[in-house]
Amino acid sequence: MKHPYLTDDHQMFRQALRKFLDKEAYPHFDQWEKDRMIPREFWTKMGEQGFLCPDVEEAYGGSGVDWGFSVVINEELEKVGTSMIGIGLHNDVVVPYLTAFATKEQKERWLPKCVTGETITALAMTEPGTGSDLANIRTTAIKDGDHYVLNGQKTFITNGIHSDLVVVACKTDPKAEPKHKGVSLIVVERGMEGFSRGRKLDKVGLHSQDTAELIFEDCRVPKENLLGEEGKGFLYMMDKLQQERLLVAIGAQVAAEDMLQTTIDYVKSRKAFGQPVSKFQNTQFKLVEMATEIEMGRTFLDQLIARHMAGEDVVTEVSMAKWKLTEMAKDTASSCMQLHGGYGYMEEYKIARRYRDIPVSAIYAGTNEIMKTIIAKNMGL
Ligand SMILES: Cc1cc2nc3c(=O)[nH]c(=O)nc-3n(C[C@H](O)[C@H](O)[C@H](O)COP(=O)(O)OP(=O)(O)OC[C@H]3O[C@@H](n4cnc5c(N)ncnc54)[C@H](O)[C@@H]3O)c2cc1C
Repeated sequence: MKHPYLTDDHQMFRQALRKFLDKEAYPHFDQWEKDRMIPREFWTKMGEQGFLCPDVEEAYGGSGVDWGFSVVINEELEKVGTSMIGIGLHNDVVVPYLTAFATKEQKERWLPKCVTGETITALAMTEPGTGSDLANIRTTAIKDGDHYVLNGQKTFITNGIHSDLVVVACKTDPKAEPKHKGVSLIVVERGMEGFSRGRKLDKVGLHSQDTAELIFEDCRVPKENLLGEEGKGFLYMMDKLQQERLLVAIGAQVAAEDMLQTTIDYVKSRKAFGQPVSKFQNTQFKLVEMATEIEMGRTFLDQLIARHMAGEDVVTEVSMAKWKLTEMAKDTASSCMQLHGGYGYMEEYKIARRYRDIPVSAIYAGTNEIMKTIIAKNMGL
């Protein structure tokens, strides 16, 4: 049967990427987790091989290929570890803001280095006082001659330490009613006066992912760095969240598939009461239940990716996939750890890291509760 979106070209690309990751990522990943940082050189190596932003137009240094190639990249990076999510965020969340809303001049200035990995990007929406309720952000950007002057603080920002270019959600009109109409997106670049990094945050999981606070104190940004139109920032964010949430759903699905396979291998080799743990009926039923949920998740996800690539509005279905697949992956992590017995709780077993890494997928890119409010609204409730 024909795959909903993958062709032979995607599969060849996957082989090349796997070969690259076998050499450049897998042997180093445990050390990166200990160092709590993925080195910048890994980004530029990805860029050299064409594994960053492959869907960016050729005129700006990309390959101009379909989003299926990005899906392949996200799947293969997730297999290495969820901490690689920052690369997917750059490729498929932040850079798409530039390709969609930047002017030709801005694209020429920013995009080529995003493709080579010389520029790493971040998206700064969340603040210490507000995450889910984005219309209530407090960071302001007030016009002063040819500049915007930014004041405020952002937190939990993925790629926060490495980022050279940050798309910042801020209020250009703090008094606007309704509040979301005062939100704009402004691009802040490394080295701009008044822009500094706060703490690199110490997280339960995703250890090598650099998540940080960003601080803007009378930060002067040239008005040429406004993205799109003033007051449209909230609408732009809503537009781009479909792909961001799909990305999280893809990560959760791949993580669940990986945990299932790891656990099948383990229970076949581990013996108790004179037989492999895989021969106990409880083990079999647990694995069968997980395999069934995972198979259904894969079918739902693949057709959603195809519909997203076809340009359909699948906000409701993507919200469903985001909450359901991340909860499924969390349940899978818990059951798989149990089937590993005491070894599952040891850091040298991969399931321990997966167990730590997966819960955040239910929180970021909009919490699962927020997903349900979107679905409820779209169901007319
Ligand atoms: C590792 C990590 C990386 C992140 N990366 C980024 C990033 O790169 N850029 C960025 O901008 N943000 C990022 N975030 C922030 C993330 O998107 C927010 O944490 C998330 O949106 C939730 O916001 P909050 O933490 O303020 O929780 P809150 O909004 O305070 O929510 C607290 C609880 O209340 C619930 N809740 C809130 N509103 C409702 C409602 N209307 N109905 C029902 N329940 C509700 C929530 O679901 C949650 O359970 C990241 C977070 C983490 C942990």
